[in-house]
Amino acid sequence: MNITSETFPCVIIGSGPAGLSAALALAGQNIKPLILERLDRPALKLLASGGGRCNFSNVLDENSFMQKFGRQGAFMRNALRFAPKEWLLDFFHSHDLKTTLTDSFFYFPASGRARDILDLFQRESGVEIRTCCEVIGIDADTTGVCGVSLADGTQISCRSVILAAGGCAWQGLGTMKGLRLAESLGHKLIKPLPAVAPLLIAEPWVGSLAGVTLPDAELKLQSGRDTFHTRGSLLFTHSGLSGFPALDLAGEAASLCERKGNAKLVLSFCAGKNAAFWEDLLDECRVKDGKRLVRSVLSEFLPRSVAETLCRLCNCPEAKTATLSAVSRRMLCIMAGGCELTLTGAGPFSKAMAMRGGISLKEIDPATLQSRLIPGLFFAGEIMDLTGPCGGYNIQWAFSSGRLAGASAADFLRI
Ligand SMILES: Cc1cc2nc3c(=O)[nH]c(=O)nc-3n(C[C@H](O)[C@H](O)[C@H](O)COP(=O)(O)OP(=O)(O)OC[C@H]3O[C@@H](n4cnc5c(N)ncnc54)[C@H](O)[C@@H]3O)c2cc1C
Repeated sequence: MNITSETFPCVIIGSGPAGLSAALALAGQNIKPLILERLDRPALKLLASGGGRCNFSNVLDENSFMQKFGRQGAFMRNALRFAPKEWLLDFFHSHDLKTTLTDSFFYFPASGRARDILDLFQRESGVEIRTCCEVIGIDADTTGVCGVSLADGTQISCRSVILAAGGCAWQGLGTMKGLRLAESLGHKLIKPLPAVAPLLIAEPWVGSLAGVTLPDAELKLQSGRDTFHTRGSLLFTHSGLSGFPALDLAGEAASLCERKGNAKLVLSFCAGKNAAFWEDLLDECRVKDGKRLVRSVLSEFLPRSVAETLCRLCNCPEAKTATLSAVSRRMLCIMAGGCELTLTGAGPFSKAMAMRGGISLKEIDPATLQSRLIPGLFFAGEIMDLTGPCGGYNIQWAFSSGRLAGASAADFLRI
């Protein structure tokens, strides 16, 4: 039996950064929304973000920030203008939440606690968050939204809904449920794929190095006319590669492999050191000390296990610099300078920190984030088909889009 219990002007589905920011914007217009959260605690992804420290933004200007979201990035302009990082920083600082900049780029709360951000939004919005409340339907007729239905049979009446239910990434916290709600109302879903996730590599030797780190490696991925370069500390895993340079490429890699099956990824073991560098190095060592093992020469720049693996792959596991064959020398230098790997995808979803794909932007008005299909339905955050790399992009987008969706819903309710 369905029970119609209450009426709210606006129901927000999801208590992540997008939902919290929408609630704050509504509260600023004296509108009291209700947040419904299916899990037993609010904002669990926000709390897990940045290893519990929450990298909530970065220093990039509007254009550079949008470019990191790919070709669709310009969709974000209205939201980023309405609620830029300066707004977020002002909000934090004016409420005594100090922030810190890491590597002159990444913003974190100075306390190192994501929870401080959640507490501040909850306190300042005064919003009621009901946990263990899964929305299973958004009720709408030809004139627009009229309520939501919960898994326990409860119905709540409302004139507007902000769908801030996030994506399906990360085991236990992510879900397709919000995406399905939008789909059931006629919104098109762009197939979700893992992003900000490890890269999957076919070559077995990569997995044999699991646990080993290259301190400053470079990856290159060609996708159509676009070439993507990433650089930094790279970790070998049992199924491929992880660490910043890998995570940053994951969305693009997943989408490329979805279209093509697999793709070529170029790994430079030491950024900036191409085949010519390794050739010069081996030549120099041959003259200085021809009895020195090739693998110990490489170990000056690479972890020992990586140097040994490269020599084994190039058929020179025990070769000395003086006895290294021309073929092995050429193979080795080409490999160390830019080794071609077979990329088979990214993921799995259970280890992905973000989702690529989501609700198609075609049916969302970027000026208000309102659905073009259902009056009174607004979108905020990761549920939309926009994904940034690592580095505070996705949480800033959630806060900015949440604020615009909340303000737009307030305008809608005033009509
Ligand atoms: C481990 C980890 C670390 C991360 N670190 C960073 C970082 O440092 N910086 C960064 O920018 N990004 C980071 N991200 C990504 C970032 O956390 C997300 O992009 C962001 O939380 C998205 O915000 P959102 O509000 O759109 O969705 P979410 O935070 O996912 O919130 C959506 C909420 O809606 C709820 N919900 C879903 N469906 C329903 C339903 N039917 N009924 C009721 N409730 C529902 C969900 O349970 C969830 O709590 C990280 C992600 C993970 C998993």
